[in-house]
Amino acid sequence: MSDDLSTRLASLERLARRLEPDDHLREHLTRAASAYAEEFVTTLPSAPGFVPDEHDATARPEAVSENPRSIASFFQTLATSIDTVGINPASGRHLGYIPGGGVYASAWGDFLADITNRYAGVFYASPGAVRLENDLLAWLATVVGFPSTAVGNLTSGGSLASLIAIVTAREAAGLTCATIPTAVVYRSEHAHHCLDKALRIAGLNEVVLRELPLDDQYRVCPERTSALIAEDRAAGLRPWLLIGSAGTTDTGSIDPLDALATIAASEKLWYHVDGAYGAFFALTETGRSRLRGMERADSLVLDPHKTLFLPYGSGVVLVRDPTHLARAHRYQANYMQDADRASDVRSPAELSPELTKPFRGLRLWLPLWLHGVGAFRAALDEKLLLAQYAYRRLGEIGFERGPEPELSVVTYRWRPRTRHDGRPIDDETEIDAFNRRLHDSLLRDGRVFISSTLLRGRYTLRFAIVVHRTHRSDMDLALELLEAEVRRLEAARFSGCTESGHPLASGS
Ligand SMILES: *Cc1c(COP(=O)(O)O)cnc(C)c1O
Repeated sequence: MSDDLSTRLASLERLARRLEPDDHLREHLTRAASAYAEEFVTTLPSAPGFVPDEHDATARPEAVSENPRSIASFFQTLATSIDTVGINPASGRHLGYIPGGGVYASAWGDFLADITNRYAGVFYASPGAVRLENDLLAWLATVVGFPSTAVGNLTSGGSLASLIAIVTAREAAGLTCATIPTAVVYRSEHAHHCLDKALRIAGLNEVVLRELPLDDQYRVCPERTSALIAEDRAAGLRPWLLIGSAGTTDTGSIDPLDALATIAASEKLWYHVDGAYGAFFALTETGRSRLRGMERADSLVLDPHKTLFLPYGSGVVLVRDPTHLARAHRYQANYMQDADRASDVRSPAELSPELTKPFRGLRLWLPLWLHGVGAFRAALDEKLLLAQYAYRRLGEIGFERGPEPELSVVTYRWRPRTRHDGRPIDDETEIDAFNRRLHDSLLRDGRVFISSTLLRGRYTLRFAIVVHRTHRSDMDLALELLEAEVRRLEAARFSGCTESGHPLASGS
């Protein structure tokens, strides 16, 4: 070897070796990261659920640079630019959208999966990781009542899981350019938008979309569904996919899953159940009975990063018939020939769009191992009861409420009173405006985070009680803040003050 080459190699090696921290740097990083995590977790109970983004551009993290920077400045930036602004999804006071919290142990599952970097896409590469993920999928199948022959995939979230389900349904029906415009999808206006998005991504923009009518509790009416299907058949269309919700995002309503399953079976439609929010409630007795019929789906989605309280990055798709999932995703390549050597264990790469993927199983397995399923079941039962509690208290305070919660979403709005006789007003636009102000006030206060939706076009506030850290005291705080703010805004209306006058006294 020439001297020149040796010198260059030595010099590059010295620089490249920076990528492998020595024991000293490893220890320093571990200690700093642990200390940061400790501080974050121990101060969570009093941390705000939401902080409006009022930072200016100088608070942005510094751009990446050619040279190393210090550990201390990294954690400083994390604390000031990222972890103290916006929604705090780890907080038990996050009652907006569909939260989840993020169980602590999952982080160590991720940490270990990243350190060992097991190749969980292919059985040949990591038989242990793939077996574990398959076992977890088998357990998930039992949770929702699927047969043990069902297969699935651990995805990054519900949207990706839904996309896999839609593509599988497309392939199972053998839809082609010629038949797509005659294929009909049946779903309610409250079906999650990720399903429409999945249809578009899957090249199915031209399918016929039928919106199923809802009852007064925002659940699909099965009778009307059958009638619509019959009309479509008579018109020469090809009913293809029926979507049911095991808990909608808007109101937590559960479609009549068993009745829809019967329709799908007799009409030979693919039956997809979206359980991204609701399906894990099947771990509870109450949930299991309310979700009856979900086990008859052809494909089903769950989101462990919602109702199993995992950190973001965990969705699940389950498909009843393994051949359909494999047909939609299996591929062969020359450079994969070693991996294809005889094994009858299924690999994630054969059953999903991903080839290389993180070993997601560990973030699910470690918390289940450490805490036991019983702790998750209890937390879910607690959320169901907290929703009942919140529903009752909102009624006592005087809120107009949506349907009694079937799961853990509660909807409500305030109907302001008239000045002269104290009766609730009728002007819907004014009611909307009042509730928007009420919502804005709560966001400015920030101690709890709630989100809103439109129900039958009207501005409606919601609680989605899903974070494992949400307990009775958090609900009480949310209810107290709402009540105090309603009284203040009502008083301001009568005195003619503007709404922005005196926001809630901040708790911090
Ligand atoms: C959150 C949600 C989804 C989408 O899942 P992501 O994990 O956010 O991608 C789908 N359906 C329902 C009912 C949801 O609540």
